[in-house]
Amino acid sequence: MRTPTTRHPAIARAGAFLACALLAAPALRAQSDVDRLITAAVQDTAAYHRLGELVDTFGSRPSGSDRLERAIDWIVAEMKKDGLENVHTEPVMVPHWERGAESATLIEPRRAPLAMLGLGRSVGTPPSGITAPVLVVRDFADLRAHASEARGKIVLYDYPFRHDLPPFEAYEDAVRYRVLGADSAASVGAVAALVRSVASFSIRNPHTGSMAYGSAAKRIPAAALSVEDAEMLHRMQDRGQRIVVNLTMGARTLPDAPSRNVIAELRGSEKPDEVVVLGGHIDSWDVGQGAMDDGGGSVAAWEVLRLMKQLGIRPKRTVRVVLWTNEESGLAGGRAYRDAHRSELPKHVLALESDNGVFAPRGIRVTGPDSVVAWMRRLVAPLARIGADSVFRGDPEADVSPIVALGVPGAALEIDGSRYFWYHHSEGDTLDKLDPYEMARCVATMGAVALGAAND
Ligand SMILES: [Zn+2]
Repeated sequence: MRTPTTRHPAIARAGAFLACALLAAPALRAQSDVDRLITAAVQDTAAYHRLGELVDTFGSRPSGSDRLERAIDWIVAEMKKDGLENVHTEPVMVPHWERGAESATLIEPRRAPLAMLGLGRSVGTPPSGITAPVLVVRDFADLRAHASEARGKIVLYDYPFRHDLPPFEAYEDAVRYRVLGADSAASVGAVAALVRSVASFSIRNPHTGSMAYGSAAKRIPAAALSVEDAEMLHRMQDRGQRIVVNLTMGARTLPDAPSRNVIAELRGSEKPDEVVVLGGHIDSWDVGQGAMDDGGGSVAAWEVLRLMKQLGIRPKRTVRVVLWTNEESGLAGGRAYRDAHRSELPKHVLALESDNGVFAPRGIRVTGPDSVVAWMRRLVAPLARIGADSVFRGDPEADVSPIVALGVPGAALEIDGSRYFWYHHSEGDTLDKLDPYEMARCVATMGAVALGAAND
């Protein structure tokens, strides 16, 4: 979003800390590896530049695409150059959905293109598209109330992103219509479904994401409209105007394709068979660059290991970076990791993921018993100097959820999420939306927690 030209306050604070440490030589000697890692991380924008090289070179990385696999090849080669240990990939078969050419065109009351993105996993339309009248509903209850009017129509859900909820709760609230809307519309005879983009801010950029077919007998095409277009169609309906839209989608699902999870480690010096996992997902949607979701989380985790190696820090337990594939359209990578490492899971002491964008970190969100929360409060204490020492309770991120379900303590990087849903799953998810120094503080936060857990 901006390129910093001045020193960030957090860097100044870290510098002040170093100056104090230098004045008191014994304190310098006593500085823990965790403190050294934090200090190095917040002074370094290497992660941001590496993320830029990844997303500029390979672009978006949808499951099943050549560019995802070429990005994985590049990461593996770079990790080996970094001197990381046990760098390898593990095979995963992933769903392969392709968008194809697509459009939505308003036919009545006036002819105009609409800003749309097909939803992941949707079926396509016939080549000439589907042309039908539109029924706009607010929510599922509104659809039930007007079920008798839905047959043969394109149903549009104009459900707003609630600004009275925290962003990630508002997302959970609204995303039901993206995921389940087509199925409900099909069950009352609709021929296609449109959904208002799940976004907290819009410059007429539609937002995609996965949908699912359930019990309805018929699979109908589903797409997101921009917030602006959804509201306009709703206003037209409120005025009593007849609305007709042509929806054309070339979407298709191909046979599952081979992909890979990426693994790199620094082996533990005392308990190498005990493991701290940290990572993000390397796949993305096919729009934008997948810089925020989740190239940033992936590269931040990788940077933790690179910095530890550069600083000569050897953890007591093994610290393992995992870059999962196929989070966005199936979670096959998360399940494959669970299955490939099932016998090791009792010795996984923590699984930490960043998948909410590498914005200003606030702390760590924990899934597990009270004892894990108390442990996390100790692990985040050194992060007070960068303001990232809060502990929250909540659900784990998606890729670690299969192993958290089997008892591995889960942790997620908790960030300032106020801008996340401006860009999420849209053409706007590009490198410039992130800040090098916020990302650096995410590296510091993930590193302090991972190394602290490995050495505790
Ligand atoms: Zn993600």
